[in-house]
Amino acid sequence: ERGDVHAGVLVLGSGPGGYAAAFRAADLGLDVVMVERHATLGGVCLNVGCIPSKALLHIAKVIAEAQSAASHGVTFGAPQVDLDALRAWKEGVVARLTRGVAGMAKGREVQVVQGEARFTGPHTLEVAGPDGTTTTISFDHAIVAAGSRSVQLPGIPHEDPRVMDSTGALELAEIPGRLLVVGGGIIGLEMATVYDALGSEVTVVELADGLIPGADRDLVKPLARRIGKRYAAIHLGTSVESVEARDDGLHATFSGDVPDAVFDRVLVAVGRIPNGAGLGLDAAGVTVDERGFVPVDAQRRTNVAHILAIGDVAEGPMLAHKATAEGHVAAEVIAGHASAFDPRGVPSVAYTDPEVAWVGLTETEAAERDVAYETSVFPWSASGRALAVDGSTGLTKLLRDPETGRVLGAGIVGPNAGELIAEPGFALEMGADVADLALTIHAHPTLSETLMLSAELADGTITDLP
Ligand code: FAD
Repeated sequence: ERGDVHAGVLVLGSGPGGYAAAFRAADLGLDVVMVERHATLGGVCLNVGCIPSKALLHIAKVIAEAQSAASHGVTFGAPQVDLDALRAWKEGVVARLTRGVAGMAKGREVQVVQGEARFTGPHTLEVAGPDGTTTTISFDHAIVAAGSRSVQLPGIPHEDPRVMDSTGALELAEIPGRLLVVGGGIIGLEMATVYDALGSEVTVVELADGLIPGADRDLVKPLARRIGKRYAAIHLGTSVESVEARDDGLHATFSGDVPDAVFDRVLVAVGRIPNGAGLGLDAAGVTVDERGFVPVDAQRRTNVAHILAIGDVAEGPMLAHKATAEGHVAAEVIAGHASAFDPRGVPSVAYTDPEVAWVGLTETEAAERDVAYETSVFPWSASGRALAVDGSTGLTKLLRDPETGRVLGAGIVGPNAGELIAEPGFALEMGADVADLALTIHAHPTLSETLMLSAELADGTITDLP
């Protein structure tokens, strides 16, 4: 059966997974059709995720640095925020990137079809366009990159405009006086960082007994300390029982003995669910699990060999760079290359203040999986550069194999941790041991030196700290 359009490779979704797969497949000489329901390409990451959040976090950082300069003898006035101009700048950053993706698709002759896609068989798909027309597409191979969406909570009036998900929070409709952030994970805390800097009084409530569940506790501590002092309250091990929308505000009740409180806005950031259900994948014979994930093998093949899945809709951490790496693998597998996805080197970063980043093995995971490891931790209070940039609460931690000294993982907290984590990521990919890091001459004075110093602590080159 041949559709209105035939694709060698059909890519469903144009996020960092989908466009990376589409472009790699086109570069490998395959003929590619990419379907996206939105008018702009780039998925969650470019439009309502990574990029707009980082633009706003940049401004938050400028404000926070100006504030801390006050204790070093330089005082700026309170920030005057023109929300319309800030929003327009953020949207300009996004638009440049999404236009760039569209240009790259055009340059590669990747055909983009706009509309809601649904599988109708193992080699066919239907796309309902925004103008009401239906396009049928037949394909030899398909890559499902449909992404994920925010979870909603029962008992919360999500229809009230003052109740936001991350997309709503990024819209920056106003700077609320009192903001409740439900969920102390990466997305919730990044948005908390933005609104705190812009002047909101922030309360965070998190069900787990610590912030950023998944990160080692020693890495989270400097962040928890800083925001513990700045925010109105951080309630751990607590759930929101109800939120009632009244004219005078959003009235929230909590579990335990946390007192009721009223907020001007509520951000719900309690996780994301994969978009695997609702794509008609059953018609193609593709298994979707009960959570909405599409199970895949190391080549990112589903149980139907010519249909692959990548990104947030496939299992694993919901991160843009993970989606992109899988997109490359999927395209190469379809082109007949011996590619496979190895999740070991996927870094995680919370772009909070301070940033928290980790890659490879964490101590939490090592304990769960009973993996033998040794750590070396370099405290940034012993780094001249860290002291000079208000980063003395930071830490650089290396995990190594006790037998071979091989780098197994790393965790960093402090300014620029998200950039610094690339080096141990590289060490991990190269199979380097701590001596390789210790012997690499790092520029002085830099924060990256803390990796060398942590490695020197590990191999005994240094035994004491100032
Ligand atoms: P997506 O980017 O979700 O793209 C999927 C696309 O498929 C969407 O455009 C969607 O419209 C389309 N689609 C779905 N179903 C259909 C259908 N039936 N028909 C047609 N089109 C369809 N990750 C990081 O690594 N770093 C960050 O700093 C970061 N910050 C984030 C901040 C926020 C606020 C959020 C929400 C997420 C953030 N993420 C970050 C996560 C990141 O955005 C995702 O991991 C990434 O976008 C996943 O890429 P993807 O290609 O799998 O899917």
